[in-house]
Amino acid sequence: MTDELEQRHAAIDWEYASAPESRTIVQFRDRYGLVIGGEEIDPASGEWFTTASPATEEPLAEVALAGAKDVDRAVAAARGAFDGWSRLRPAERSKYLFRIARILQERSRELAVAESLDGGKPIKESRDVDLPLAAAHFFYHAGWADKLEYAFPNRTPRPLGVAAQIIPWNFPLLMLAWKVAPALACGNTVVLKPAETTPLTALMFADVCRQAELPAGVVNIVTGDGETGHALVQHPDIDKLAFTGSTEVGKAIQRELAGRGVPHTLELGGKAANIVFDDAALDQAVEGIVNGIYFNQGHVCCAGSRLLVQESVADTVVAKLKRRLSTLRVGDPLDKNTDVGAINSKAQLDRIRELVASGEEEGAELYQAPCELPEHGYWFPPTVFTNVAQSYRIAQEEIFGPVLSVMTFRTPAEALEKANNTAYGLSAGVWTEKGSRILWMAERLRAGVVWANTFNRFDPASPFGGYKESGFGREGGRHGLEAYLRFDG
Ligand code: NAD
Repeated sequence: MTDELEQRHAAIDWEYASAPESRTIVQFRDRYGLVIGGEEIDPASGEWFTTASPATEEPLAEVALAGAKDVDRAVAAARGAFDGWSRLRPAERSKYLFRIARILQERSRELAVAESLDGGKPIKESRDVDLPLAAAHFFYHAGWADKLEYAFPNRTPRPLGVAAQIIPWNFPLLMLAWKVAPALACGNTVVLKPAETTPLTALMFADVCRQAELPAGVVNIVTGDGETGHALVQHPDIDKLAFTGSTEVGKAIQRELAGRGVPHTLELGGKAANIVFDDAALDQAVEGIVNGIYFNQGHVCCAGSRLLVQESVADTVVAKLKRRLSTLRVGDPLDKNTDVGAINSKAQLDRIRELVASGEEEGAELYQAPCELPEHGYWFPPTVFTNVAQSYRIAQEEIFGPVLSVMTFRTPAEALEKANNTAYGLSAGVWTEKGSRILWMAERLRAGVVWANTFNRFDPASPFGGYKESGFGREGGRHGLEAYLRFDG
């Protein structure tokens, strides 16, 4: 875009009338029990907790807090259902997965509104990303359920048994789909623990399973906090553990499982580099940078939270980026025009604030989009730090919020060195018009996913996972199936 055109665009003060999605499509009940053996039951612990909207702090529902006894019941129910489910004709299992996928599509508006209410993410993301991808994961795995022998020829794939699955709050239903769909396709049964700030769509998913007439006990949902998760990890009768969450908890889980012979996959944190070379289409790259870090308020494990930009175009890119930031609409997650919603919880907001303060103290230069933040709820404006040194905490630690750290480089080798200078290795982005450079970088970047001239693209057929402190194991594709199977051959 020419400078003149950009100035003309900047001069237009775009006004948007609010376009709220109707929230009446979701009727939360006052209370949700645990879903065990196909029934909803009160927790033996007798304890409940409240889940609230992070955008307004309005309580949405009471949810059961499962204790060790409840987890035990859920594992027993999954064990009881395993024989029947794993012996079902694979084509029959496919039918259930197809049904679930179709029901997710049919109920997608309701589920998207629930996701935005409970988690704070913009409705246009839950509607256009989370729900379509969650359904796609079930469709994709429905296709595999009766073809596992072709996926792994001459290896005689068998299910593992009871899969314990623990998920975070940033993509509640999508993370559920990433875990539940491959587990069921491979003939396992499931005990799933959703995150404490976003349990509602997992509980609604239990209703989707009921509608699909999934046999009782195949999917069990135990809501609760870290203690509930811990009880699930400790349970002696699980055959597999799949965890997505922080590196800190992932390490604790690995210690817990050491020597027990329970196969596990860990999808942990990230600090991805988004690398822009001077020959890139810069306007397109700026869109990719914005999508990379402000999508889902930056609550994304693979967020492009470190921008590495070639020195010769750094000033231009930063100027374009700041201009673009001023057009982002921050606010009501249920407004269809909203680009950046609420921070998921008070605890996460505190963590973002603490890391941003450390960036200022260490000497980085802060820029925040000029936007009015709502009075109630948890909010943080889209933020860019320039003048960032590699050693600063904001360049090293995962912030998990809408905060970008900008650094520069001169040569491809320097870009690579800086990009790999992290404890994590989940994803990276490369922006250049030179195909050979994309291949050169992709071969050398220590990251599970490398996007070229795009960012944050997901597909159920494409395996996703990390290196180093981002964890191990892959979800999606054939690699993802393998994590839910044992091989006799
Ligand atoms: P978290 O680790 O605090 O919690 C994740 C889940 O683990 C929650 O359900 C929680 O209740 C449970 N949990 C907490 N303590 C536990 C324990 N001791 N034993 C068992 N379970 C326990 O993480 P979070 O704050 O919910 O999520 C954010 C983190 O997740 C970020 O670091 C992010 O990068 C990561 N993440 C990674 C991926 C990926 O695919 N690699 C995807 C999404 C999020």
